[in-house]
Amino acid sequence: MLDTARIRQDFPILSRKVNGVPLVYLDNAATSQKPRSVIRALVDYYERYNSNVHRGVHTLSMEATDAMEEARQKVADFVNAESPSCIIWTRNTTEALNLVAQGWAMEHVAAGERIVTTAMEHHSNLVPWQRVARERGAELRILPLAEDGALDLSDVNSIIDTRTRLVTAVHVSNSLGTINPVKALAARAKEVGAAFLVDGAQSVPHMPVDVQDIGCDFMAFSGHKMLGPTGIGVLYARREALERMEPFLVGGEMVLQVSYEDATWNDLPMRFEAGTPNVADAIGMGAAVDYLNGLGMDRVREHEIQITGYALDAFGEIEDLDVFGPADPEKRGGVIPFHTTEVHAHDFGTVLDRRGIAVRTGHHCTMPLMETLGVAATARASFYVYNTEEEVDVLVDAVKEAMRYFLDGSR
Ligand code: PMP
Repeated sequence: MLDTARIRQDFPILSRKVNGVPLVYLDNAATSQKPRSVIRALVDYYERYNSNVHRGVHTLSMEATDAMEEARQKVADFVNAESPSCIIWTRNTTEALNLVAQGWAMEHVAAGERIVTTAMEHHSNLVPWQRVARERGAELRILPLAEDGALDLSDVNSIIDTRTRLVTAVHVSNSLGTINPVKALAARAKEVGAAFLVDGAQSVPHMPVDVQDIGCDFMAFSGHKMLGPTGIGVLYARREALERMEPFLVGGEMVLQVSYEDATWNDLPMRFEAGTPNVADAIGMGAAVDYLNGLGMDRVREHEIQITGYALDAFGEIEDLDVFGPADPEKRGGVIPFHTTEVHAHDFGTVLDRRGIAVRTGHHCTMPLMETLGVAATARASFYVYNTEEEVDVLVDAVKEAMRYFLDGSR
């Protein structure tokens, strides 16, 4: 098991108080906190070897280039990519997904063909496909939701048919916690000759993820949700997929030869990284990967199953409170969305904040899913490596108190 007491000492922010009480940070699906080693990697870069990369022969530039490329290798190893040249730096998951939409789908999806996504996608993995479908005259199909918060795959073979060019799915839902069967979806996509893209924003930070084992062509994820800095994300793509992709940003760094009339593209992965990259945050993301590897991703996942199971049991005892997503903690990530008709999600958020508890409230960038669930908003607690069962107790007490406060009208 993870030694959470020791881990917490690595995160300076966790010792602060909010509204006079210790911070209970349960908004990890939105963004995670950063250990000292990640913060130090950023400071070290700016204090000792800040420089532009790839272009210089001077020492600082070579040190910065080496450190950024080392980080790329670490990220490649972390998800078992076949090569670091399959790792493209982006700003975040959203940009990585848009890179596939603009660079791959706009090139390869034709009128009358299909793009298939799911009913539980984050807007970032839905809106780009709406646009591609509209611009290419393609059809966007949605794999529906089952009662238990999983995907209903009873019609999967007719929805993912031979007209399908791209299948995409969120690996772990940020709104339900559901872990989707990405390996099976990859196999079905392959059967019909479609590419398969995984939104790994909520899986890569929380469980061992092996892109080759899944058999996906693309996977997108963000540094800031896995203990790394904001402003850095990743698109993993199989080499053959990258070779069939067009860069959607053109300019410096991504070219090989330029004349007044024309230009040729640089090698992979630089072809997709126009302009000066986010050197500092890429190095910071590498430090985050080191930290997670030090903990062991199997143990990270085990910890989350345990704390999620504990929270589900505790929430299950609160009358009139609905918890969405699969009942079995083995089938979900560390995300607990809760809802009652009596208390608005934002009121939950405000009352919990007074107790120092940070949760997210709202539609979690999944408006169509909220409509399917028949709610306007939920409150969502989400866990990570530093969260404890004691914090779950504080949360559950505060939720009960908020419900008493609003239900009794005893203000
Ligand atoms: N997909 C999922 C499943 C997410 O949870 C998020 C972040 N909430 C995103 C995509 C978008 O990530 P980012 O904001 O880092 O681009």
